[in-house]
Amino acid sequence: MKQLFGTFGVRRVANTVLTPEFASKIAAAYGTKVTGTIAIGADPRTSSEMIKHAVTAGLLSVGCDVVDLGTLPTPAVQYAVRQYYDGGIMITASHNPPKYNGLKLLDKDGIGTPDDLEEEIEDIYFNDKQERVTWDKIGKVYKRNIIDEYIDQVLQRVDVDAIKDANLKVVLDCGSGAACSTTPYIIRKLGCELTTLNCQPDGSFPGRNPEPTEDNLHDLMDVVKATGADIGIAHDGDADRTICIDENGDFVFGDKSFALVEKAMLEKNNGGTIVTTVATSNAIRDIALENNGDIILTRVGDLVVARKLQEVNGLFGGEENGGLIFPDFVYGRDSGLATAMILEIMAKTKKPLSTLISELPTYYSQKRKVPCPDDKKPLVTKGIINDTTEYELDTTDGVKVITDEGWVIIRPSGTEPIYRCFSEAKTMEDATKLADWGMSLIEKYI
Ligand code: MG
Repeated sequence: MKQLFGTFGVRRVANTVLTPEFASKIAAAYGTKVTGTIAIGADPRTSSEMIKHAVTAGLLSVGCDVVDLGTLPTPAVQYAVRQYYDGGIMITASHNPPKYNGLKLLDKDGIGTPDDLEEEIEDIYFNDKQERVTWDKIGKVYKRNIIDEYIDQVLQRVDVDAIKDANLKVVLDCGSGAACSTTPYIIRKLGCELTTLNCQPDGSFPGRNPEPTEDNLHDLMDVVKATGADIGIAHDGDADRTICIDENGDFVFGDKSFALVEKAMLEKNNGGTIVTTVATSNAIRDIALENNGDIILTRVGDLVVARKLQEVNGLFGGEENGGLIFPDFVYGRDSGLATAMILEIMAKTKKPLSTLISELPTYYSQKRKVPCPDDKKPLVTKGIINDTTEYELDTTDGVKVITDEGWVIIRPSGTEPIYRCFSEAKTMEDATKLADWGMSLIEKYI
């Protein structure tokens, strides 16, 4: 059982738990296992520079060379590692508030480190088994700009001329996060008229909270409407998630933009394998079936989806939170290509975003959660399975009960003492009924 690592690396309050000493020891433990040349990057948090120096020292002390890529999105680091390096560490707390920071550790393919490697790193950390080298074997530090190459690689994957011809008006809200160094330049190179919000990197996140939820994006919605823009685009703190606002200023849920890009990817490639999680909308399955695609459903988590895409040589994948994965580019959620792809779809179809979204299969969903002590979780899951045997069940992650009306998935959180309950159906009434039923099953066994 892991003590330090969550679903993607370590995340803690900076300089109280995540001190330079802590970061350096973790980095040295990582470098002891991974060895070789390690790329590092950071988001613009106030603590990132301090932690980056500590991580660098830890890596050098076990003989790794370090390539400092600067302040840039997580997917740009993942791209660089896959192309050129033996591993990578991104210093970021993703969408969490400014006082947090964290370490996203990457394997040689640029995917977040697997559980067994993280357990080994923890063992080295807790038992001080870092293999410090002698004075003459200490590593060296290099600097490299990978941002221009990353941007160029994004542009190579879309029809730049078609997007330029469409003269799209875009409002971009980077939330003062890592996307400031990439997405504004991508959108300009695509010939769009660009208005920026929060596109100066600032670790105090003065404009908005770094999580791109509907509540945090009201300024963006207002500016899209006020400027008559075709689309608003927002990212989270480390720029691996992309959320859209349509031309009416309405928030587009992540599963909708996921479905839109899925459809375009399948049409472009004449089919392919789509990977997503059991908690994602049936719209993803419907689009795959209609467009010569196969679908694989995994446990919840972007790393699980990325690994499965690599294993099956899949075409495209993602999650309902605005994380889109293009495995021929980056084995992780990417924001640069997601942005360019959405603009390409709008340019080529010549349709407003709201129309494109309205043409997708419609489902209604409900998302709930309830507190549950960790030690009760196995009993709750077992009880729910026993109560639902008359239905079609999928136990890939928690229990997904599939009925004639839709489905409800009931699953314990891996990081918090709560149970989550998501439902989906063709009508809101059925989605609500399924969610009520799911909640009653959890409460029966708590
Ligand atoms: Mg993120």
